[in-house]
Amino acid sequence: MLLVVSPRAELRAMVVRLVPPQIPVFEADGVEQARALLPVLPNGADCVILDAKSPESAVDVQKELRVALPPPAPPMLVLLDASTPEEGQARVIDAGAADAIAGPVGPGLLAAKIRGLSQRARRERELTWRLERALENATVDPLTGLFNRRQFERRLREESAHARRHRKAFALVVLDLDHFKSINDTYGHEVGDHVLSHVASILKATLREDDTAFRYGGEEFVLLLRSCNARAAKLVTDRVRAELAQRPLSLDGGAARPITFSAGVAAAEDGNEFVTAEIVARADAAMYRAKRGGRNRVEIEEGLDGVASVARPAT
Ligand code: GH3
Ligand code: MG
Ligand code: MG
Repeated sequence: MLLVVSPRAELRAMVVRLVPPQIPVFEADGVEQARALLPVLPNGADCVILDAKSPESAVDVQKELRVALPPPAPPMLVLLDASTPEEGQARVIDAGAADAIAGPVGPGLLAAKIRGLSQRARRERELTWRLERALENATVDPLTGLFNRRQFERRLREESAHARRHRKAFALVVLDLDHFKSINDTYGHEVGDHVLSHVASILKATLREDDTAFRYGGEEFVLLLRSCNARAAKLVTDRVRAELAQRPLSLDGGAARPITFSAGVAAAEDGNEFVTAEIVARADAAMYRAKRGGRNRVEIEEGLDGVASVARPAT
């Protein structure tokens, strides 16, 4: 898609003639018309050709179009009056134009400039797309669509720093599926994978927007719950447990089999002076206590569980 902004009808007509018919050209006779066109323009302009009265007006319109057009910003070719001094052209380029031509421009040069800039825009879009996919692959677990362990570790560092600085509570839940190996052994690995996705979708549906679920590895998940103490985190986790119990899976087309997990909660909160050190290990220890206690349950780390109340040193 091309956008040509010019009061000169013959220049607009020339651009339309130069561009292959499959590429739509949107024409505006000035900024007002261009502004009116913006809401209906398709995404991803290949090139904007701006015919400006002066470098100053070009810079103003450039800014306005950059804000209005969806990123990545399309390259802009600015056409200026033949009398424009070199500094004027330089100013337009400094303000972000890809190119500026002062003086009359013929179809041969204009076509070459449009081709070059459009190619550049397409390459940039392709690179942006690839970068986004690469970032997604680096942070998201492909089976469940949940964030992965690497992302969890990053988020945990941020959350811990925030908790210490602002004395703001957060809770961490380690959640491990019960007897998962027997699901794999009985029904096969693919069915096991399906169970993992099922649990992930229940986590996504149950958690609040501020809370995040991660796939920590294998059949273990972690939840990072913002502004949440251990007690509230246990309630949230028990709600997930109840949701899962209500959605048993028929794994071999026969009777539905309930899926359960054991979970351990640790928190940086008032009750422990917002200690964040070893918080994963603390949640893990609570999770193992849940396993030993008979599975399908949620345990809170010692000291916050109302059983023992030992003061912990702040870190
Ligand atoms: P427990 O109740 O004590 O946690 O028993 P468990 O059987 O869940 O524990 P264990 O750690 O022995 O088994 C975990 C199993 O998870 C073993 C491994 O093959 C399986 N697993 C790990 N990652 C995946 C995966 O991506 N897909 C599938 N299908 N299975 C996985
Ligand atoms: Mg495990
Ligand atoms: Mg397990």
